[in-house]
Amino acid sequence: MVESALEFLRICEDENFTNIVISMKSSNPQVMVEAYRLLSKKLQEEKLNPYPLHLGVTEAGEGEDGRTKSAMGIGTLLEDGLGDTVRVSLTEDPEFEIPVARTLVDRYNNRSETASFIEPIDVLPIDPYSYSRRITAEVENFGGKNVPRVIADYSQIDISEPADLQPIGHFYLPATDKWAMNDLGADYIYSGARPVPFMLPNGLKEIIDYTTWNTLKDQSRTYPLLTKEEYLITILNGSVLQATHFIKLQISDCEGDILNYLQEDPYAILVIETKNTHAMAELRRLFFKLAQHRIHLPVVTQWTQHSDSVDQTTLYAATDCGGLLVDGLGDGLLIKQTDSADHHKNNAKFLNSLAFGILQAARTRMSKTEYISCPSCGRTLFDLQDTTARIRQRTDHLKGIKIGIMGCIVNGPGEMADADYGYVGMGVNKIALYRGQEVVKRSVPADRALDELIELMREDGVWKEPEAVLE
Ligand code: SF4
Repeated sequence: MVESALEFLRICEDENFTNIVISMKSSNPQVMVEAYRLLSKKLQEEKLNPYPLHLGVTEAGEGEDGRTKSAMGIGTLLEDGLGDTVRVSLTEDPEFEIPVARTLVDRYNNRSETASFIEPIDVLPIDPYSYSRRITAEVENFGGKNVPRVIADYSQIDISEPADLQPIGHFYLPATDKWAMNDLGADYIYSGARPVPFMLPNGLKEIIDYTTWNTLKDQSRTYPLLTKEEYLITILNGSVLQATHFIKLQISDCEGDILNYLQEDPYAILVIETKNTHAMAELRRLFFKLAQHRIHLPVVTQWTQHSDSVDQTTLYAATDCGGLLVDGLGDGLLIKQTDSADHHKNNAKFLNSLAFGILQAARTRMSKTEYISCPSCGRTLFDLQDTTARIRQRTDHLKGIKIGIMGCIVNGPGEMADADYGYVGMGVNKIALYRGQEVVKRSVPADRALDELIELMREDGVWKEPEAVLE
């Protein structure tokens, strides 16, 4: 993509035409971020003009997924200082795209006045132009080859009964006296100073503040979370923890003896956070500092919600956490709730779903079906939103499968290059069905197309009947 753009730019410049804005869109935020970064480097290297960049994630889809993907691509680049115009492309009515774009760009209005200084780097310990995951030790089920873990924040929620865990995907079934979990079941719960008063299901473990954890009679299947000071005291007292423990760390903590202790600690998992408004860059700097000091412990990124706005939380969390994940940084997410009252359990459900959505958009942990759907235009000869909703209703249990839903056969197949299956409009009431990039059924009547798509998946052995949904 970058080489192709450069080829055209060279021709344009040879003809003295420089009135150009460049767009490098892809439906995969990771590909799109790497492409824009590489392009801006190449422009400099080849001494071409520093053309303005138009940022966008194509075919991002709808709802929370579309917003998450858009923010991960556009927001990451804006954090890097790249981008001059943006387009958010949702499978929704066009007027819903503008507030999303505005929320993304408005974040930078006063950024330089509020952000704290971040120490510059001499050597970049990652390759910003291609993905590779940070290599870490495996501690418990964090790091190594494990998928990033999701930790649900219940530190402000009173937990009294098993039903309190339903918002984070864990369901107690009294009839069988068993627990069940849906695809968005959190891996850990952070209960702070309010330990859970009943036995948790096997799939869920508990992290508790160290001072409270120390008072527990039964510490089995629980893990302490220590501040830097608490950690240093345990070491000075000689009471070094000989089992998995979590340590909170900000960039200002990464000085002095603690760095040596962390190098030698095989049981620690770091939980990093920042108060800097330029959050992603400071957290990334913290990762670089760990690399510089040869600390290969797994790292959980903690991100705190700052407002009750669902859109703002989705977009900013996806930017800050997703911007790290696209560079292979992070072995878990803990999205902390705002302090505001009375919506905590609903909010826990939203934040849990958001954490899984961010991991999915970064392609680091697939927990649901991925839809790559275009925003529709004059070429679309069917109701794309309605069709997307119908396809989603029948297929949203197919974890990890990518389905492209495109309005036309002119641009659709190219735009869904990444999809496993495609549902593409090719005329009035006529649909083409794709397996990857290959058309396998042409001119299927629209009223039969979804059934035929499912039949195709059945032939390929990827179709599963949906199970009862736990919500
Ligand atoms: S209908 Fe075709 S050209 Fe229009 S937005 Fe969808 S894929 Fe792009």
